[in-house]
Amino acid sequence: MSKNLKDELIQSLIDQKEIFGDVLFEENIIKTRKTEIIKNSDAMKDSLFKEDWELTENLEDLNRLICKCKKCPLGETRNKFVFGTGNPDADAMCIGEGPGADEDAQGLPFVGRAGRLLTDILKAIKFEREEVYIANVVKCRPPGNRTPLPIEMDTCLPYLKKQIELIKPKVILCLGLTAAQGLLKKRDSLTNMRGNVFDFDSDGFKTKVMVTYHPAALLRNPNWKRGCWEDVQKFRKLYDELTN
Ligand code: SF4
Ligand code: URA
Repeated sequence: MSKNLKDELIQSLIDQKEIFGDVLFEENIIKTRKTEIIKNSDAMKDSLFKEDWELTENLEDLNRLICKCKKCPLGETRNKFVFGTGNPDADAMCIGEGPGADEDAQGLPFVGRAGRLLTDILKAIKFEREEVYIANVVKCRPPGNRTPLPIEMDTCLPYLKKQIELIKPKVILCLGLTAAQGLLKKRDSLTNMRGNVFDFDSDGFKTKVMVTYHPAALLRNPNWKRGCWEDVQKFRKLYDELTN
């Protein structure tokens, strides 16, 4: 609590004591008022220092409030902002790197060739695409499909974290090294991260994260499909353990 708020709280308690005297000034009254004042000052702090989108309580409002974002240079070159799609109550989330040409044209994640492969991968572990939630680390297409820069990912990450806090998935699957590094803030290799389960905390909401290849990488290197198959089976197992 800041010094100002503390002072405000103490002053308010002194005022009450002056007005009501010692009789009313019992332990529980102090406690109740203290909680009230803290709650009010927290709400005051939130409305003063937080942006509107940070205070939203559902995905539609979040989308509406951030879809015109120009906080990083990707906002200048995108055609469509790609918020994410799927079940707002999903227990499983898939997170990619950023929109490609098809996604940028349609405003939806993973709708191109890599997206169709993702749908098949999900099917193989008995998930319908509509059952999970699919999003990206950056919501606007990097020109020429280049890898998003760390500064772009860091600027966009609070939006994804807010999405995670609203959806509350039990498990998250990061698709590719960029998504994994962007979300987990790790500098490790994909080889080292695959097969492990990471803890992720977004403003107090805790969930589990696993990492596998990006579907676009599998299209280029079909011999990685076996490894991906092993990863996603582990992912499904973790999902089953955490949801049953
Ligand atoms: Fe905003 Fe993210 Fe788009 Fe950058 S990529 S402009 S931070 S929404
Ligand atoms: N690749 C990604 O990382 N995300 C998409 O949405 C599409 C392709």
